[in-house]
Amino acid sequence: MKKCLLISFGELLLKGKNRSIFENTLVKKIKETADKTGSYEFKKYRARYAVIAKTDDANLQELISRVKNIFGITVIFQGYIVSRDMDSIKKCVLEVAEKNSTFKIRSKRHDKSYPIKSFDLNREIGEFVLTGVPGTSVDVHNPEQVINIEIFENSVIVFTEAARGMGGLPYGTAGRVVSLFSGGIDSPVASWMMMKRGCEIIPVHFHTPPYTGEGSLLKVKDLIKHLATFAGKSVISYFVNFTTVQLAIKKCVPDKYVTVVSRRFMARIAEEIARSEKAKGIVTGEALAQVASQTLENMLCVDEVFGLTVLRPLVGLDKEEIVKKARQIGTYEISIRKEIDCCHLFVPKRPETKANIASVCNAEKKVLEELGTDWKYDFSAERID
Ligand code: ATP
Ligand code: MG
Repeated sequence: MKKCLLISFGELLLKGKNRSIFENTLVKKIKETADKTGSYEFKKYRARYAVIAKTDDANLQELISRVKNIFGITVIFQGYIVSRDMDSIKKCVLEVAEKNSTFKIRSKRHDKSYPIKSFDLNREIGEFVLTGVPGTSVDVHNPEQVINIEIFENSVIVFTEAARGMGGLPYGTAGRVVSLFSGGIDSPVASWMMMKRGCEIIPVHFHTPPYTGEGSLLKVKDLIKHLATFAGKSVISYFVNFTTVQLAIKKCVPDKYVTVVSRRFMARIAEEIARSEKAKGIVTGEALAQVASQTLENMLCVDEVFGLTVLRPLVGLDKEEIVKKARQIGTYEISIRKEIDCCHLFVPKRPETKANIASVCNAEKKVLEELGTDWKYDFSAERID
């Protein structure tokens, strides 16, 4: 009797020819994660993937808490792999059955030559649980616990659900994107959502020293560090010194256009970084009409400078929904740390909500003159994990 996890891959089933690429990436991630916590062997059982402990003292709870963070997994089951005799099956069932709960036995014979039919196995094991595990009763419609027994050619797996995965697609399988990463509540959630859809993210953060301090940089790095736990690898991140540009904008642009023009400069720089990193899209944490700068007109004004697809995964969400997601994924507590964001310092009193491209371009010309022709931004790149 060996302890194991059985892992279900969600949407991968739908991927046709690409499926093997997605599956291999996911399997590699699971193996790497398991190898970090103990000694395991791996085997595919039909559509599910088994991680089998080589020793009895394997810490499956620790493994579950890590595997849960891998995108592409829908359900994680926990149980035992045993030989096909009834005594061994019953011994496992006693290990997994919960006391004082309603249950249902769900048997499946992948090997139809197994002499006991599923229906009979359900009944026999059901009765065994009722008499052997205190406080249990059967509920076939809405049980608190489903005990699965699956019969294969050489073994049987007895298992119950241990955790829900996050779904989505394996990290990196959908290509690279640059993420405009502010350190607020929204942009980490937006990044996470694109990571969940299989994108590898490259966060780009603009800061304005000395107006913003080390604390705000540290906060952004902590957020990226947290997201790296979902990536399962280090995340290349860019930190762009935006002070010269921001001051030029403040000096040359009518106050109401400061935010839109700042965003257009950020967009250009982000796009340059995206091209150098072979990223194919730009992610922002904007939600329509959440603040004055995020109207359709203003978005158009910024999109105009992008030559890449702009992805706004939060565009239709309310702030409350974004906060809920931020709490779920663990970024909220870091995001609300009180640090100065570069944009908030330069935010106009009355921002234009319906920016007109021609007027914005006019204002922008003055900034470009102020910066001079050989203007170049300073940045640093770091691998964060
Ligand atoms: P967030 O919570 O992500 O800061 P927000 O509601 O504060 O969002 P804005 O400050 O208007 O909204 O920013 C809108 C988007 O612009 C952000 O979600 C982010 O994608 C990008 N952005 C804003 N400030 C920065 C910055 N300093 N560095 C990089 N991107 C930024
Ligand atoms: Mg912000």
